[in-house]
Amino acid sequence: MKYLLIGLSLSIMMDSVKANTVYDESLNARQQCIVTIAAFTANGNLAKLNNAIHEGLEAGLTVSEIKEVIIQMYAYAGFPRSLNALHTMMDILKERKSKGINDPEGKKSSPYPNNKSSLEFGSENQTRLVGSPVKGDVYEFAPAIDQFLKEHLFGDIFGRDILDWQTREVATIAALASLGGTDNQLRSHFKVGMNNGLTKDQLDNIVSIIRTKVGETEGNNAAKILRAVLGLEEGVKKEKSANSNFVGTVSVKMLVNPDSLFNTQMGAVTFEPGARTNWHYHPSGQILIITDGTAYYQEKGKPKQILSKGQIVKCPPNVQHWHGATQHGSMTHLALTPDLKMGGVVWLQKVTDEEYESKK
Ligand code: MN
Repeated sequence: MKYLLIGLSLSIMMDSVKANTVYDESLNARQQCIVTIAAFTANGNLAKLNNAIHEGLEAGLTVSEIKEVIIQMYAYAGFPRSLNALHTMMDILKERKSKGINDPEGKKSSPYPNNKSSLEFGSENQTRLVGSPVKGDVYEFAPAIDQFLKEHLFGDIFGRDILDWQTREVATIAALASLGGTDNQLRSHFKVGMNNGLTKDQLDNIVSIIRTKVGETEGNNAAKILRAVLGLEEGVKKEKSANSNFVGTVSVKMLVNPDSLFNTQMGAVTFEPGARTNWHYHPSGQILIITDGTAYYQEKGKPKQILSKGQIVKCPPNVQHWHGATQHGSMTHLALTPDLKMGGVVWLQKVTDEEYESKK
């Protein structure tokens, strides 16, 4: 509630903010079917997959959307599981056609960008999905798998626009929760899902579908991992950490989460004196509205700006910048990300004390 009080001076705006926070979105009927289709493709339960595909078609998923979920699953569960699932789907469509049901085919994927290699395209997609460039011991140990993940999973597969990235994450989380033995990947994908705008309610929703449709063991395990991830997020909010995306103490309160109508996110962010973000950029740009205190805002290569309560900054897409409080007082701003389909924030290096204190 503290965060809602901070913006009371903007009373009209806060009314709409409050209204939005009351109704967090759950998964819609089509997304719920994607959970079961992905889960039963991944764990190979073809009898239950049969039901899930029927339910998906009845809920309005197109043939190409269901096919795309099953194709994506081969990256997580292997070609045999995906091919078996595609056979199951072909039988269902034949059967429905014989009964006179014509299921809509749905859209085809747009062509890949022709000015980028698969590796460049996939690396960009991976960075946007995860929120920062992906590195790790295992990728140095086996560079080929890093290349295949980037080129193939994040370039060739995630680059097909039949499904948006949120939907692909719903499918991936469902698959990993059902496979077993993939807790580390499930943990990462809960975070990637949140980075791409899936809400806590939506993630809870996936877990409860896994519990009721796939199995209690799988559901309980996923719930345990989700609780740990959310707990970690809570901790990060109030953390003074050398490894976080901020310097100093920063609290974030999400006010508007994206839904099927608005691909938009808004949060109230409070910086204690001296606190600031790391350098970063937003693939779709960002609008900041200072609601309390005095803010610093700087774009790469430009002078640092000093902004007071009520001022608004429109930061263009892909422009590196940072924002934060001054040394002398705390600052709160609303941060609005207009089109999350373009990808979430990409974090870069820390703002040094020299940059922070610079008078230029
Ligand atoms: Mn920003």
